Amino acid sequence: MIDGEMNLSLGGQKISLDRAQQRICYVSHAHSDHAGAMKSKEKLIFASKETAALARRQIVPPFFDDGLHVSLHNSGHILGSTQLKAEHDGRVFVYTGDFMLSDGLTTIGE
Ligand SMILES: [Zn+2]
Repeated sequence: MIDGEMNLSLGGQKISLDRAQQRICYVSHAHSDHAGAMKSKEKLIFASKETAALARRQIVPPFFDDGLHVSLHNSGHILGSTQLKAEHDGRVFVYTGDFMLSDGLTTIGE
């Protein structure tokens, strides 16, 4: 499901997690050690609108089909930080780059 290079393979899709190795990249938040994929215009970025705004990049979320459902949820780390939840064929995968268990000044819980 996930390889050593942080690529998630699920439902026939490959998604790079906080890296820029695949065409589809998930960016968990706008800290530079997680947001490198934002520099490439060819990448399809999956991130919160706040993360995109902090990176000064417009994003068009990728479309997933074949029963793959991907959603973003607050991770409480910084403004716009999320965790990714991917579901396919009864399997669930959750990832985030950094998180906090309580809300900070720039985050709001779900
Ligand atoms: Zn961080």
